[in-house]
Amino acid sequence: MTEAAVSPIRTTCPYCGVGCGVVAANGGAGPVSGDNDHPANRGRLCVKGASLGETLGSHGRLLKARVDGCESELPAALDAVAAAIQDSVAKYGPSSVAFYLSGQLLTEDYYVANKLAKGFIKTPHVDTNSRLCMSSAVAAHKRAFGADAVPACYEDLELADLLVLSGSNAAWNHPILYQRMKTAAREGRRVVVIDPRATATTELADLHLKLKPGTDTVLFNGLLVWLADHQGLDSEYIRDHCAGFGDTLAEARIAAPDTASVAIQCDLPRADVDTFYQWFAATPRTVTGFSQGVNQSVAGTDKGNAIINCHLATGRVGQPGASPFSLTGQPNAMGGREVGGLANTLAAHMDYDTPGAQARVAKFWQTDGVADGPGLKAVDLFEAIYRGDIRVVWIMATNPAVSLPDTDRVREALARCPTVIVSDCVANTDTTAFADILLPAAGWGEKDGTVTNSERCISRQRAFLPLAGDARPDWWLMSEVAWRLGFGEAFGFNTPAAVFREHAALSGCDNNGTRVFDISALAELSDQGFDALSPIQWPASEEAPHGQARLFTAGQFCTPDGRARFIPIQTRLPRESPATALPMIVNTGRIRDQWHTMTRTARTPRLLQHRSEPFIEVHPEDVERLGLSNGALATLTRNQGRFTGRVRSTDAQRPGEVFVPIHWNQQFASEGLATQLTARITDPVSGQPESKFGLADLTPFPARWHGRLLCREPQPRRWQAGYWSYAPLAECGSWWLAGSERVDWPRNASQWLGGPLQQVMSDPTNGCFRAARIVDGRLISILLVDARPERLPAVDWLASCFALKSLSDEQSRTLLAGRDIAREATGAIICSCFQVGERQIEKSVANGADSVEALAAALKCGTNCGSCLPELKSMLSHSLGKAV
Ligand code: SF4
Repeated sequence: MTEAAVSPIRTTCPYCGVGCGVVAANGGAGPVSGDNDHPANRGRLCVKGASLGETLGSHGRLLKARVDGCESELPAALDAVAAAIQDSVAKYGPSSVAFYLSGQLLTEDYYVANKLAKGFIKTPHVDTNSRLCMSSAVAAHKRAFGADAVPACYEDLELADLLVLSGSNAAWNHPILYQRMKTAAREGRRVVVIDPRATATTELADLHLKLKPGTDTVLFNGLLVWLADHQGLDSEYIRDHCAGFGDTLAEARIAAPDTASVAIQCDLPRADVDTFYQWFAATPRTVTGFSQGVNQSVAGTDKGNAIINCHLATGRVGQPGASPFSLTGQPNAMGGREVGGLANTLAAHMDYDTPGAQARVAKFWQTDGVADGPGLKAVDLFEAIYRGDIRVVWIMATNPAVSLPDTDRVREALARCPTVIVSDCVANTDTTAFADILLPAAGWGEKDGTVTNSERCISRQRAFLPLAGDARPDWWLMSEVAWRLGFGEAFGFNTPAAVFREHAALSGCDNNGTRVFDISALAELSDQGFDALSPIQWPASEEAPHGQARLFTAGQFCTPDGRARFIPIQTRLPRESPATALPMIVNTGRIRDQWHTMTRTARTPRLLQHRSEPFIEVHPEDVERLGLSNGALATLTRNQGRFTGRVRSTDAQRPGEVFVPIHWNQQFASEGLATQLTARITDPVSGQPESKFGLADLTPFPARWHGRLLCREPQPRRWQAGYWSYAPLAECGSWWLAGSERVDWPRNASQWLGGPLQQVMSDPTNGCFRAARIVDGRLISILLVDARPERLPAVDWLASCFALKSLSDEQSRTLLAGRDIAREATGAIICSCFQVGERQIEKSVANGADSVEALAAALKCGTNCGSCLPELKSMLSHSLGKAV
């Protein structure tokens, strides 16, 4: 008799801010698919979402607590947490304790953290990695609208006749939204992409403004001036619904007096600037989507307001197909904003300076007062740890040792901190290495609660797996500590539904329409109602019990007089101290198939096939000028920081500028931390660090030899080579290696391969060495070394040999050649869904395929999630020498 299948569970993808609905079949043992009923994605998933099922399992999970390096029972570890907090508060005051949270947490986790810290421990120092993601957009919304509220909804991206995407590579970072924008293409719909580099998203663009980094405010100030000078303003809207237009326009005229000046300052063709301005003026239905390229800047808040100014000036806010639209990076960055998870906010969209807010929140929480003012924002918070002002830090579901700028300083801060508490579902991260107390947290699939996506849509994350080992939800771990600290009565939550109800009730407390974040209509949900909750866009109040798609539609804002504010914007360009005279400008960002610091996505070999190593995108002129070569290694150096990656020569970059991915950590590469190249410089309003403008020197990596090592050992491991990078493959681990030292390979290879060698081939004249370990006919490990990296064979066939129970004679004979003569290598995987590689695509094009449809017919590539379509088009254009 077969066991009955478990019903499919509807939950939400834990990666990006699109917030796609996911269906997990058969308790996670079955496939993970898109939820046809979820309004964000209507059944579609990008390759990351589609691979979620492959990230489950206990491998690499933190299953037991650890205290001072020793395994501990969970109650004892929680005792240790409470004792550390109690001791620090007694000796150094509440402000010696800090919480560093994450947009990966559920809203219920966030709520309990905020309540415990600000309401009971009374420390104001609660911040989140969302500070690195969208805090500039938050600050811009508050300055313009009086509240951190996104006026638009996803449908607006489809309704817009002009779509402006500023600092947003949506094709890779919001793939399903990008697919929706692409599908909505129609006669007359135009797309403008504003980005210093060509990305997969520019494939959709009718106009790409490849502007000089950091000059976005000049471009939008210029637009405001142009609108004023060409009858492009909605004067009635400005008169009836806004304030501050005159001063703002005057400032804009100083910063960007005319198109010619804008073109020079932004380093753009004047005709392109004119075209953009004309299109914007002539298109009532315009949406400007902006993302990390705008937010992660020393002038991120100003950039957001410069965009919003133009939308207010044309009355295009909260209208169908017409709005500014901040696209959030993380799955629950918005949920953190709702509860007050940013250091400068208090709770439920109330700030410390909101009249009566502190007393109201204290009364609601039934405590004798709350922290008495804003806390430190992320970068400053870690500086306070470095100085010793903060002595206990509890880090949840995030990896600041990789993600914060100037990582060496962050690591030093964590090393100095007397008590570092880390709760995570992953055992070994760069940050858990510093933990004095490690708490096992529930992972995706085990979590139960809510998240809010970029369009304010609250969705349920539902558990479909039992908790692994001693893992517990973060809200539960914190409530247990609260009990131990003597605050138990206020933390008597026994379900996430109970936390959510309290959160919803606080949003409505003394609200009376004064705060747009109001979900009080959900405050009485039963446990069953919570379980069945369908996606709903806040507010969900008495006036809008079923949610609301758009905000500020009637031109009424959350300021005391109900008017939106124009914000005068001066030009402030990114720059580092004059002492930093390094030649290359460094831009950092995400890649298509990885998420944040790779702790989850790198568990899936499929997601490492698209980009397997750290890389540096460099303009061909710089490649030549600096003596680099495409495909060889190069190093970016900034002070003590180094980033080594494979050169990708591309005119997507502007000369003098490079792009590096943010994902690689020290578990996966010797020198892959992008944050080694960015300084601790932040936006003065939002505190968001500048991640799009570092300075570095770029030089060839002086490799004497290059190697590929494959072995059965599944764990990442550090090598004594100048350069190494790890990627798991389906049946083995795989390393790229390179070094400048001489190595006596015949003498040392057995150490690298873990035992005696069965096959050896050595050609010292050409710097070539190859060896393999084979035990009982099974391939255990193989090393290929060559002085020239292009002579190393592709390893796809070798990797497949690890799946064989026993190598045939023929396979053994050809092993060191690195290829099966009868089988052709696929090259780097472009379509992850159908495992279609670069070389297969090139071959298909050579055989006559001249469109993505023809490639789809031949290879199926691009026919599932569509994430690879921009790259397929780009490859076709490149091969055919014309746009397709
Ligand atoms: Fe997940 Fe974002 Fe992909 Fe949707 S678009 S499946 S939320 S990573």
